[in-house]
Amino acid sequence: MKKLFKGILDFQSEDFEAHRELFRDLKSSQNPHTLFIGCSDSRVVPTLITKTDPGELFLVRNVANIVPPFHMSDRFVATASAIEFAILSLEVDTIVVCGHSNCGGCYALNQSPETLQHMPNLLKWLEIIREVPDRVTRLMKGDSAAEREWITEEVNILVQMENLLSYPFILERVLAGLLKVLGWYYIIETGEVFNFNDETGHFEIVE
Ligand SMILES: [Zn+2]
Repeated sequence: MKKLFKGILDFQSEDFEAHRELFRDLKSSQNPHTLFIGCSDSRVVPTLITKTDPGELFLVRNVANIVPPFHMSDRFVATASAIEFAILSLEVDTIVVCGHSNCGGCYALNQSPETLQHMPNLLKWLEIIREVPDRVTRLMKGDSAAEREWITEEVNILVQMENLLSYPFILERVLAGLLKVLGWYYIIETGEVFNFNDETGHFEIVE
């Protein structure tokens, strides 16, 4: 915990000082260009991997970078409300769904529900993507756990990109050419990012 408090002081004396003007400009408004939907995983740091500054990315992070399909709800809907605000109020022109290697949320999909019984909210959350394992099985060429892992992580990204289009205001903007939806697969141990190319149907390395 000490590390966190020392971090605040270091931030103020080093990073904040270096970007004093930027923070002053951001004092009363934000104008991010991108809604970035990523996993809560501690190893995925959106501003680091995109080298962006405060004010550039509007972030949604949850377990397994999931976008619940559009529906009106009387429940508490954190992800959907952040999506509404980013598109309808901040008017971002890009949405990134960023999955990653070694994702615990995706791994859990391939385990029996009993292993998550003690985390009932997480179990419920992952129900949103319960279609993923079947799609993965249809795509697998071999039967190794490693292949299942990375295909699960990639298919999960595609499902969230599809779910985004179930939001009427997103579909409308995408069709009008006002909004772009990107799917990224980030590899933790190499720093590589693979961008989904909807013409080839493959994730291709960004270089
Ligand atoms: Zn993850």
